[in-house]
Amino acid sequence: MKKKYIYKKNFIFNIIKKDLICKKYKTITTRFPPEPNGFLHIGHAKSIFLNLNIAKKYNGKCNLRFDDTNPNSENLKYIKFIIKDIKWLGFKIINNIYYTSDYFNIIYKYAKELIKKNLAYVDELSKNKIHKYRGTLTKPGKISPFRNRSIKENLYMFKKMKYGYFPEGAACLRAKINMSSFNIVMRDPILYRIKYIKHFKTNKTWCIYPTYDFSHCISDSLEKITHSLCTLEFLDNRILYNWILDNITKKFNPCQYEFSRLNLTYYILSKRKLKFLVKNKFVNNWDDPRMPTLSGLKCKGYSSNSIYNFCKNIGITNQESLINIETLEHYVRNDLNKKSLHYMGVIDPLIIIIKNMGKHIEMILMLKNPKNIKEGYRIVPFSKKIYIDKSDYKEKFDKNYKRLILGRKIRLRNSYVIKAKKIIKNICGNIKKIYCIYYYNTLNKKIKINNKSINVIHWVSKKHSIPVTINLYNHLFKVPNPGKYKNIISIINPNSLIIKNSYVEPNLYYLKNYNSFQLERIGYFCLVKTKYKNNLIFNRIIKLKKY
Ligand code: ATP
Ligand code: MG
Repeated sequence: MKKKYIYKKNFIFNIIKKDLICKKYKTITTRFPPEPNGFLHIGHAKSIFLNLNIAKKYNGKCNLRFDDTNPNSENLKYIKFIIKDIKWLGFKIINNIYYTSDYFNIIYKYAKELIKKNLAYVDELSKNKIHKYRGTLTKPGKISPFRNRSIKENLYMFKKMKYGYFPEGAACLRAKINMSSFNIVMRDPILYRIKYIKHFKTNKTWCIYPTYDFSHCISDSLEKITHSLCTLEFLDNRILYNWILDNITKKFNPCQYEFSRLNLTYYILSKRKLKFLVKNKFVNNWDDPRMPTLSGLKCKGYSSNSIYNFCKNIGITNQESLINIETLEHYVRNDLNKKSLHYMGVIDPLIIIIKNMGKHIEMILMLKNPKNIKEGYRIVPFSKKIYIDKSDYKEKFDKNYKRLILGRKIRLRNSYVIKAKKIIKNICGNIKKIYCIYYYNTLNKKIKINNKSINVIHWVSKKHSIPVTINLYNHLFKVPNPGKYKNIISIINPNSLIIKNSYVEPNLYYLKNYNSFQLERIGYFCLVKTKYKNNLIFNRIIKLKKY
């Protein structure tokens, strides 16, 4: 995928430009630092495109760094999927893949340096007490009774932590900053905690792990990251980021900048909550098409190009906002509109019998893509018995209803004009079939009734159609801002997936997996499984705009 266009100008580009002009940095290096504890979602795509495009624009570098400092929830499976998703987005990785765990030795040394400078201490308060002692926005924190240990004792205690002399939670290393700071982040933040969990990379080498705050700035410095871009919730942590870097002997000084995270209506972009949905089987997996994960969107049929165009155009700001899902859908439709071939299919079939047609079959030529004649033609069989969609027929007369009504003429797409004559119902009163007549001289002829073009409905020949299963996906949540809800179970849409047994024209038989196409008048679809038990399965990617 060629990506010539770089992001719209934004405040981060302005900062970088200034830094280059005043020679603060010679070259630019950014990084994308996912925690391997879940799949990437579309919010991560925003961050990936930003970091990679900055590197591209300034001939710099972008590192992929796995922030693997919490072995409780991280594992190799996620690493594999994260790399796969980044590649799918169109980036030949980022030739540089790093792991925070590669720096555990160095980070440990820096912790000792802080202890030696009397800027860190081992605290034996319980987790609860540490939390309690931290104070609130209006109340200063309380000093831990362990804060005034000697440097020697702290070094000894830290070593004991490292060699497994304490149970989990019995001790931790804290920075010695200011328990009355107006910024709670600066009230002696935790730098190291004990965890007796096997790490997927370092195995059992360590039982102490640095926190995000402590390891992130150090990793940035070691990798010579010039602009460390993170989301706005880390604004308060920037002062700690700088405090740590100011107090260790390092060679390189990175800077942290914050931008607003992506929030999208009808989607939740929190890995914790997405994990909850997977674990409790509200969706089939991380790649369920109802998920905002990159693999979910891919399964639904979204292309990486449409995600790129979306990220490019929403811009980067430092103001929180909620973006309407229709903005993303606009880019998805735009992309599909250009490339999708057209076919016909009937989701909820209703049989039409054309009384005045013989048993012969007609082959009708139709454009493969009405927007691009060069794509050529397809042949669609037409016969006495056809299917139309149930929603294209109304029993009661309604002058505003534009489709089939008893006694009214309607055009079958790219075919003949028909008129409904008689309805046959079953004993339950449901319509079984409709008898119509067709006007054989109306094929491809413009016909007007009362000076108005005749309305059109789609169809497939019963005998020639192929039965398919269609997955109709709707929003997973009933409310536009699900991120606001604590109890997400109560807002799950029971109709987020509707499975239909439908019929499509025979030309769709030759489609390949993940090929997308338009079912005329209905929407864009893609093939997800070829010929499972002789049945094709399609996902609806998105509805057409006007329907
Ligand atoms: P989540 O809340 O989904 O768990 P996270 O920030 O904990 O997100 P990480 O794996 O740590 O997940 O994120 C890696 C990078 O992606 C970080 O730099 C983070 O700021 C960025 N990021 C995460 N979510 C979004 C989002 N919604 N919009 C933009 N950037 C995001
Ligand atoms: Mg994070």
